[in-house]
Amino acid sequence: MILGKYSIGVGDRFGHQGKAQLQAIMCAVEKGVDVTPVWNKSNREHKTIGTVPASLRQEADEAVKSLGWNRPYFVDADHINASTVEGFIECSDFFTLDVADYIGKSVPEEDVRSFIDKYGRHIRDLEAGRIAPPEVITASVRKYLGAVREAGGIYKRIASVKGAGNFVTEVSMDETDIPQSPLDLYIILAAIADEGIPASTVAPRFSGRFNKGVDYVGDVKTFGGEFETDVKVIARAVKDFGLPANLKLSVHSGSDKFSIYPVIGDIIRRHNAGLHLKTAGTTWLEEVIGLAEAGGAALAMAVEIYENALAHCDDLCRPYASVIDIRSEKLPSVALVKSWSAAEYVAAVRHDPACKQYNPDMRQLLHVGYKVAAEMGSRYLEMLERHEADVARNVVANIYDRHLKRLFSLL
Ligand SMILES: [Zn+2]
Repeated sequence: MILGKYSIGVGDRFGHQGKAQLQAIMCAVEKGVDVTPVWNKSNREHKTIGTVPASLRQEADEAVKSLGWNRPYFVDADHINASTVEGFIECSDFFTLDVADYIGKSVPEEDVRSFIDKYGRHIRDLEAGRIAPPEVITASVRKYLGAVREAGGIYKRIASVKGAGNFVTEVSMDETDIPQSPLDLYIILAAIADEGIPASTVAPRFSGRFNKGVDYVGDVKTFGGEFETDVKVIARAVKDFGLPANLKLSVHSGSDKFSIYPVIGDIIRRHNAGLHLKTAGTTWLEEVIGLAEAGGAALAMAVEIYENALAHCDDLCRPYASVIDIRSEKLPSVALVKSWSAAEYVAAVRHDPACKQYNPDMRQLLHVGYKVAAEMGSRYLEMLERHEADVARNVVANIYDRHLKRLFSLL
């Protein structure tokens, strides 16, 4: 099971937009860019919404069948670990092994030494003329070896059920505060090879902020330099450690990283490299926008969602603290939002940085506020179904116009 060169991970909290998401990918394919769809949903999302992993498989299969998609597609058990993997094994064929919590987990010093004996020759000449000091190498090995071994354990568990070669493996370490340098990435890849994990994608923590649903915060030039070095490191690691030839970077974008998409696109094309771009729950935001745009009772529901999200702001934000930056003083009052027209609500939430009414704080709060809609249950889902066309139009535009066009220079 080989993951294609370009793939996009789409998340869908409520499982109603699979077709619209696939339609957006088909727009890119029509323009000659072969993008593989991957539907991803984490254990945290399933728990918040009250869904089971099999529902994502069902959504993907139905979307594929109804649109006659006859190319590969995958269902990603997103950010799973040893304690959450079991429920995902049967229905998933893509596994994002999240071992960020194991960074720094201690390993015996003799293991660190023998790892360096085995791979030190490669590590030392990673960048000709810029040899990393031995203590830097040792510190990095100490930091990441235990985490990769953890990933190895999860990989072996999945392989024992599904059989090696029958699923795609990603190793992710992005959900941590400290970015990994290209040297760290190279050491992580050596360890991945050492563990026998045939990884197709690896998701490091890049520098800068990847907040949910809003643009990249950081120096774009620095990011570009780091990303390009990482791309070269991947190519080197494939050669040096015999990792799968299709190994590529996975960018857990949190969606909407408009300022870096053209930079990423340019680098991968120049280096003939692949990319997996994972987007987050912005499809859910497009649902809210679509409902607001529909007006009437649907707009009233979009207002109610904001009202409840604001009332439970602290609780909703807590699990996402490291990936949001909400300035509470910039959040509009409920009274103000109630006075808005459909167009005003949409202008505040839709991610159009050029629009004066765009409010990134409100957008981030709604992004993490999907629990509010989950609690509305069938009332929310029925509203989605009633306004399917309004919602689908926004979902397609979000993925195709704002993500794929920028990334693949289709503007
Ligand atoms: Zn992630």
